[in-house]
Amino acid sequence: MIAVLRLGHRISRDKRITTHVALVARSFGADAIFIPTKDVKLEQTIRSTCQRFGGNFDIITGVNAKKILKQWNGTIIHLTMYGEAVEKVIDIIDKTKDVLLIVGAEKVPRYIYEMAEYNVSIGNQPHSEVAALAIFLDRFTEGSWQKKQFNGALRIIPNNQGKHVVSEENERA
Ligand code: SAM
Repeated sequence: MIAVLRLGHRISRDKRITTHVALVARSFGADAIFIPTKDVKLEQTIRSTCQRFGGNFDIITGVNAKKILKQWNGTIIHLTMYGEAVEKVIDIIDKTKDVLLIVGAEKVPRYIYEMAEYNVSIGNQPHSEVAALAIFLDRFTEGSWQKKQFNGALRIIPNNQGKHVVSEENERA
Protein backbone atom coordinates (compact mmCIF):
# COMPACT_ATOMS: atom_id res chain seq x y z
CA MET A 1 0.00 0.00 0.00
CA ILE A 2 1.23 3.46 -0.90
CA ALA A 3 -0.57 6.42 0.67
CA VAL A 4 0.05 10.14 0.37
CA LEU A 5 -0.43 12.67 3.15
CA ARG A 6 -0.86 16.14 1.67
CA LEU A 7 -0.23 18.86 4.27
CA GLY A 8 -1.11 22.56 4.23
CA HIS A 9 -4.05 22.44 1.81
CA ARG A 10 -5.90 25.77 1.77
CA ILE A 11 -9.25 25.31 0.03
CA SER A 12 -9.27 28.65 -1.79
CA ARG A 13 -5.58 28.84 -2.80
CA ASP A 14 -4.55 25.21 -3.31
CA LYS A 15 -7.64 23.79 -5.03
CA ARG A 16 -5.92 23.07 -8.32
CA ILE A 17 -2.56 21.97 -7.00
CA THR A 18 -4.04 19.60 -4.40
CA THR A 19 -6.26 18.15 -7.12
CA HIS A 20 -3.10 17.57 -9.16
CA VAL A 21 -1.32 15.99 -6.18
CA ALA A 22 -4.25 13.58 -5.82
CA LEU A 23 -4.43 12.82 -9.56
CA VAL A 24 -0.69 12.17 -9.74
CA ALA A 25 -0.90 9.96 -6.65
CA ARG A 26 -3.71 7.92 -8.25
CA SER A 27 -2.12 7.70 -11.67
CA PHE A 28 1.44 6.97 -10.50
CA GLY A 29 0.59 4.01 -8.28
CA ALA A 30 -0.59 5.25 -4.87
CA ASP A 31 -3.70 3.73 -3.30
CA ALA A 32 -4.95 6.61 -1.17
CA ILE A 33 -4.52 10.25 -0.24
CA PHE A 34 -5.15 11.80 3.16
CA ILE A 35 -5.71 15.54 3.52
CA PRO A 36 -6.10 17.16 6.95
CA THR A 37 -8.33 19.99 5.65
CA LYS A 38 -11.94 18.88 5.13
CA ASP A 39 -12.77 19.54 1.46
CA VAL A 40 -15.91 17.85 0.18
CA LYS A 41 -15.64 19.38 -3.29
CA LEU A 42 -12.13 17.98 -3.73
CA GLU A 43 -13.32 14.54 -2.63
CA GLN A 44 -16.13 14.72 -5.22
CA THR A 45 -13.73 15.74 -8.00
CA ILE A 46 -11.33 12.86 -7.33
CA ARG A 47 -14.11 10.30 -6.81
CA SER A 48 -15.66 11.37 -10.10
CA THR A 49 -12.33 10.73 -11.87
CA CYS A 50 -12.15 7.30 -10.23
CA GLN A 51 -15.71 6.48 -11.28
CA ARG A 52 -14.99 7.35 -14.89
CA PHE A 53 -11.40 6.16 -15.25
CA GLY A 54 -11.37 3.30 -12.74
CA GLY A 55 -9.07 2.04 -10.03
CA ASN A 56 -9.57 1.74 -6.29
CA PHE A 57 -8.01 5.03 -5.25
CA ASP A 58 -9.33 6.45 -1.99
CA ILE A 59 -9.45 10.08 -0.85
CA ILE A 60 -10.10 11.03 2.76
CA THR A 61 -10.11 14.67 3.85
CA GLY A 62 -10.48 16.12 7.33
CA VAL A 63 -8.02 13.67 8.88
CA ASN A 64 -5.81 14.19 11.92
CA ALA A 65 -2.26 14.18 10.49
CA LYS A 66 -0.53 13.40 13.78
CA LYS A 67 -2.86 10.47 14.43
CA ILE A 68 -2.21 9.04 10.95
CA LEU A 69 1.54 9.34 11.46
CA LYS A 70 1.43 7.73 14.91
CA GLN A 71 -0.74 4.86 13.72
CA TRP A 72 1.07 4.24 10.44
CA ASN A 73 2.35 0.68 10.34
CA GLY A 74 5.04 1.07 7.70
CA THR A 75 7.60 3.51 6.39
CA ILE A 76 7.09 7.28 6.56
CA ILE A 77 8.81 9.29 3.84
CA HIS A 78 8.75 13.08 3.67
CA LEU A 79 9.56 14.74 0.33
CA THR A 80 11.48 17.94 0.89
CA MET A 81 14.18 19.90 -0.90
CA TYR A 82 16.24 19.66 2.33
CA GLY A 83 16.30 15.86 2.42
CA GLU A 84 18.74 13.22 1.25
CA ALA A 85 19.00 12.66 -2.49
CA VAL A 86 16.39 10.28 -3.88
CA GLU A 87 19.05 8.39 -5.84
CA LYS A 88 20.89 7.70 -2.58
CA VAL A 89 17.92 6.38 -0.58
CA ILE A 90 15.61 4.79 -3.13
CA ASP A 91 17.33 1.39 -3.02
CA ILE A 92 17.50 1.17 0.76
CA ILE A 93 13.79 1.79 1.34
CA ASP A 94 12.04 -1.51 2.18
CA LYS A 95 9.54 -1.91 -0.67
CA THR A 96 7.69 -4.75 1.05
CA LYS A 97 6.36 -2.38 3.72
CA ASP A 98 3.45 0.06 3.40
CA VAL A 99 4.63 3.57 2.60
CA LEU A 100 3.22 6.91 3.67
CA LEU A 101 4.54 9.74 1.49
CA ILE A 102 4.25 13.26 2.85
CA VAL A 103 4.19 16.37 0.69
CA GLY A 104 3.69 19.93 1.89
CA ALA A 105 2.44 23.22 0.54
CA GLU A 106 4.18 26.03 2.41
CA LYS A 107 6.26 25.53 5.56
CA VAL A 108 6.08 21.98 6.90
CA PRO A 109 6.11 21.66 10.74
CA ARG A 110 9.33 20.43 12.38
CA TYR A 111 7.69 17.28 13.80
CA ILE A 112 7.21 15.97 10.25
CA TYR A 113 10.99 15.95 9.67
CA GLU A 114 11.40 14.12 12.97
CA MET A 115 8.63 11.56 12.52
CA ALA A 116 9.71 10.66 8.98
CA GLU A 117 12.11 7.75 8.67
CA TYR A 118 13.39 9.31 5.45
CA ASN A 119 13.44 12.97 4.40
CA VAL A 120 14.02 12.74 0.67
CA SER A 121 14.86 15.40 -1.90
CA ILE A 122 14.27 15.36 -5.63
CA GLY A 123 17.17 17.64 -6.36
CA ASN A 124 17.87 20.42 -3.84
CA GLN A 125 16.08 23.25 -5.62
CA PRO A 126 12.58 24.34 -4.61
CA HIS A 127 9.97 23.17 -7.12
CA SER A 128 6.60 21.53 -6.61
CA GLU A 129 4.86 18.85 -4.58
CA VAL A 130 3.35 17.57 -7.83
CA ALA A 131 6.72 17.13 -9.52
CA ALA A 132 8.36 15.70 -6.38
CA LEU A 133 5.59 13.15 -5.94
CA ALA A 134 5.61 12.10 -9.59
CA ILE A 135 9.35 11.57 -9.71
CA PHE A 136 9.47 9.77 -6.37
CA LEU A 137 6.64 7.38 -7.36
CA ASP A 138 8.21 6.72 -10.75
CA ARG A 139 11.53 5.77 -9.08
CA PHE A 140 9.89 3.87 -6.22
CA THR A 141 7.70 1.75 -8.52
CA GLU A 142 10.55 1.47 -11.06
CA GLY A 143 8.14 2.67 -13.72
CA SER A 144 5.62 -0.12 -13.10
CA TRP A 145 2.84 2.45 -12.50
CA GLN A 146 2.61 2.72 -16.30
CA LYS A 147 1.37 -0.86 -16.57
CA LYS A 148 -1.32 -0.52 -13.92
CA GLN A 149 -4.78 -1.55 -15.15
CA PHE A 150 -7.56 0.77 -13.99
CA ASN A 151 -10.45 -1.03 -15.75
CA GLY A 152 -12.50 2.16 -15.90
CA ALA A 153 -15.78 2.92 -17.65
CA LEU A 154 -13.69 5.17 -19.90
CA ARG A 155 -10.50 3.95 -21.54
CA ILE A 156 -8.15 6.00 -23.68
CA ILE A 157 -6.66 4.41 -26.76
CA PRO A 158 -3.34 6.16 -27.42
CA ASN A 159 -3.60 8.07 -30.65
CA ASN A 160 -1.22 10.26 -32.59
CA GLN A 161 -4.00 12.35 -34.12
CA GLY A 162 -6.76 13.32 -31.72
CA LYS A 163 -8.77 11.77 -28.93
CA HIS A 164 -9.87 8.16 -28.97
CA VAL A 165 -11.89 7.26 -25.89
CA VAL A 166 -13.74 3.98 -25.54
CA SER A 167 -16.61 3.78 -23.07
CA GLU A 168 -18.04 0.64 -21.49
CA GLU A 169 -21.48 1.51 -22.87
CA ASN A 170 -20.24 1.77 -26.48
CA GLU A 171 -18.44 -1.55 -26.11
CA ARG A 172 -21.64 -3.25 -24.87
CA ALA A 173 -23.77 -1.76 -27.67
N1 SAM B 1 10.57 24.63 1.36
C1 SAM B 1 9.84 23.55 0.76
C2 SAM B 1 10.51 22.16 0.94
O1 SAM B 1 10.71 21.77 2.08
O2 SAM B 1 10.72 21.39 -0.03
C3 SAM B 1 9.42 23.91 -0.67
C4 SAM B 1 7.94 24.24 -0.69
S1 SAM B 1 7.15 23.60 -2.09
C5 SAM B 1 6.20 24.95 -2.60
C6 SAM B 1 5.88 22.52 -1.47
C7 SAM B 1 6.25 21.08 -1.33
O3 SAM B 1 6.84 20.60 -2.54
C8 SAM B 1 7.24 20.74 -0.26
O4 SAM B 1 6.65 20.66 1.03
C9 SAM B 1 7.77 19.39 -0.73
O5 SAM B 1 6.94 18.33 -0.31
C10 SAM B 1 7.73 19.53 -2.26
N2 SAM B 1 9.04 19.86 -2.84
C11 SAM B 1 9.38 21.03 -3.43
N3 SAM B 1 10.63 20.98 -3.89
C12 SAM B 1 11.11 19.75 -3.58
C13 SAM B 1 12.34 19.07 -3.79
N4 SAM B 1 13.35 19.66 -4.42
N5 SAM B 1 12.46 17.79 -3.36
C14 SAM B 1 11.44 17.18 -2.74
N6 SAM B 1 10.24 17.76 -2.51
C15 SAM B 1 10.08 19.02 -2.91
